[in-house]
Amino acid sequence: MFFIDVILPIPLKQTFTYSVNKDEAAFLQPGMRVAIPFGKSKVFTGIVYQVHDQAPVGYETKSIDHILDENPIITTHQLKHWEWIAKYYMCSLGEVIKAALPSAFLLESETMIKLSTEINIEEKSLTDEEFLVFEALQNQTSLHINEVRSILDKKNVVSVINKLIDIKVVDVEETVYEQYTPKLVRYVKLSPEYTSEENLRQLLDSMSRAPKQREVLMNLFVLSSQTKKPITTVALQKKSNASASTLKSLIDKGVLEEYFIQKDRVEFSGEVTTAIKELSEAQTTAYQEIKATFAEKDVVLLHGVTSSGKTEIYVRLIEQMIATGKQVLYMLPEIALTTQLITRLQKYFGEKIAVYHSKFSVNERVEVWNNILNEKPKAQVVIGARSSLFLPFKNLGFIIVDEEHEASFKQYSPSPRYNARDSSIVLAKLHKAKVLMGSATPSLESYYNAKTGKFGLVTLKKRFGNVLMPEIELVDIKEKSRKKQMTGLFSDRLLEEMRETLGNGEQVILFQNRRGYSPVVECTTCGVSPQCPNCDVSLTFHQYKNQLRCHYCGYKIAMMLSCIACGSETLDTKGFGTEQVENELKPLFPNHKIARMDQDTTRGKHAYSKLIEALENEEIDILVGTQMLAKGLDFRNIGLVGVMNADNLLNFPDFRAHERSFQLLQQVSGRAGRTQKRGKVLIQTYNPYHQILKQVSVNDYAEMYKEQLEDRYNFKYPPYYRTIKIVFKDKNFKKVQKASAWFAQALQVPFKENVLGPEPPPIGRIKNMYIINILIKIPKDQSLSKSKKFINNVQRSFNTIKDFSSVRINIDVDNY
Ligand code: ADP
Ligand code: ZN
Ligand code: ZN
Repeated sequence: MFFIDVILPIPLKQTFTYSVNKDEAAFLQPGMRVAIPFGKSKVFTGIVYQVHDQAPVGYETKSIDHILDENPIITTHQLKHWEWIAKYYMCSLGEVIKAALPSAFLLESETMIKLSTEINIEEKSLTDEEFLVFEALQNQTSLHINEVRSILDKKNVVSVINKLIDIKVVDVEETVYEQYTPKLVRYVKLSPEYTSEENLRQLLDSMSRAPKQREVLMNLFVLSSQTKKPITTVALQKKSNASASTLKSLIDKGVLEEYFIQKDRVEFSGEVTTAIKELSEAQTTAYQEIKATFAEKDVVLLHGVTSSGKTEIYVRLIEQMIATGKQVLYMLPEIALTTQLITRLQKYFGEKIAVYHSKFSVNERVEVWNNILNEKPKAQVVIGARSSLFLPFKNLGFIIVDEEHEASFKQYSPSPRYNARDSSIVLAKLHKAKVLMGSATPSLESYYNAKTGKFGLVTLKKRFGNVLMPEIELVDIKEKSRKKQMTGLFSDRLLEEMRETLGNGEQVILFQNRRGYSPVVECTTCGVSPQCPNCDVSLTFHQYKNQLRCHYCGYKIAMMLSCIACGSETLDTKGFGTEQVENELKPLFPNHKIARMDQDTTRGKHAYSKLIEALENEEIDILVGTQMLAKGLDFRNIGLVGVMNADNLLNFPDFRAHERSFQLLQQVSGRAGRTQKRGKVLIQTYNPYHQILKQVSVNDYAEMYKEQLEDRYNFKYPPYYRTIKIVFKDKNFKKVQKASAWFAQALQVPFKENVLGPEPPPIGRIKNMYIINILIKIPKDQSLSKSKKFINNVQRSFNTIKDFSSVRINIDVDNY
């Protein structure tokens, strides 16, 4: 008798044993997929964990339905890495697998299938069963796997479906994404008719009574003489200060010709178009230091101010690594926000770059997966967000974690609640690879690791090209209000600087870290604000749709005319968001193009790229936005960055709030003045004496680090202590209270005063679930694995208590 242990993509911590025959046992290897029956009628795809001949005690094993792969689709390194993640982050291996594999690899009964869009198949070549499924999909847009079962009148259908996916007849159902239409840029040129001097003179004479049109034409000549490149309508219009209609009448008359060239950022021709840049002296020194440090350390932190040219150093290191035939992983916080960087790297490395993106279709993701697994040159350098850590690297030599301080490297929900930055170190160890973390504002944890010798540290203090760091000015808006020097949300200083910057033909970025129009509506008579019925938060006002909405559960109602509590019509709005900033700007700068970048305006797959593109093409003069603006963007012409209000960042109730504020403000500031001219940053605040703001204004990371580290030491937080957060949720408040109290009591013995709570978080109810947290702080000298084992044991006893069976528990290790 032979057996296999199988991992299923579910939260249970054990593996499941199935029986196989002798041939199957000889064929199967860890990392192959098998289709297996589970429960009464369910079918799952499982991953073979090991093959053995030890019959399990206590139950009859079932046999597998099918073997789905000829070779393992998961490497042994991956399995080892995932086991580490499951153990460290206290979840099941199945949960890691579910997060790691593209969903097409994991068919289960819940999966829906649909006809493939790229279908071109000879119907005759299908087997009878395949044809039946194909035919059913002609009449129905999608089918559940259970429906396929009844169509074929058999239980085991996974292999039929897999075959149909393989030959591209069907796809796994996913949400439909917006199609990308490449952006066309409009250009103008003089009609060929007028290229002879004779005709041109006549034309100009005939235009004496249309001075505006003549002006446009003259400016076209000026621009043409300055550049050999095609001239955009935008540039011409701007240069000649003309209206769109003047330009149009010239085109209508046949004097000018309009033409379009596709400007495509996502699609890539595969050609290498740019040579790698020569490094500056400072960059060369940093580069050599990094290489030298790698001789001793596995991880190096590159601390380089914004625009110091870190990316060019990465490029150099990547070039060297791939020359040796090894694979490189380049991890970024949010792949959707990095079209600029991808384009840049594609220009250097051409087809060697593969992007792994959660918004890609299932097929595209499977393709990238297989290219990496088979070590195709096409995927030698992989760019991706945190989940790219799970890809099947065979020969990984180098991992870059860019913007390592970003919180989005940590997955908050669902499990596995892993930190990709920290987990990358373990992955690198398995491959004997090196890790380079880069940031202008490193996390306290990483900087501490570097200072204490665990990581190497390399510093770049100057911007590339000796561009000065932006000049940062704090504006006291309490004082400004008192002196009546505010126009709505804008201080006179900010308006002054904006006018000057725009007057110089430069662009302005305004940062406000809340979206929507105004967070809350409040009755000035009785003080009541409308609350979400499902969550403990006030509803926020969205002017554009005249609605009140909940950001946590999506609840929305029409804005009311009078107070729901007292009926008076004295409703007022408190606080402000990006939408209000945008609205106030319009009358203040009626002749400038204003745009907004936040979650509401960047929903579509390409909405974000379009905004970036418009900013690059200088079709936007003022951009108002949230955090998204801070993500490593590189623009040429931003003269001024304005922070509308720094205070709500600083006052956030979290031990990392000050560190985060510093990072965010430095990063946003870093968007200003990246070429030649020194940029300017204005930060409006009610509290200009706040230490963090002072440190931001003089660009003093070291001082911030020193002070925050002291706080962390005094209040027992990372990097001195490790934290594990346990979150309890239930519909019944009494129950979640009782359950968390029981748990906290059980934790007292080993952790004593280092158990914080149970206590509800600032928002104590979301989607009708009451929430209570316990935070455990574990000193560095207390064994982490023993602590986790203890918590697991407490959880096991907890699970046997009937009264608590409805209470959900999430465990978040190294919570962010
Ligand atoms: P960082 O990643 O540190 O913010 P970047 O690598 O984006 O900085 O560099 C900032 C700007 O300087 C970019 O526009 C980049 O093209 C330019 N730059 C950096 N290094 C060089 C170099 N060695 N030669 C030419 N331009 C460079
Ligand atoms: Zn009222
Ligand atoms: Zn809600």
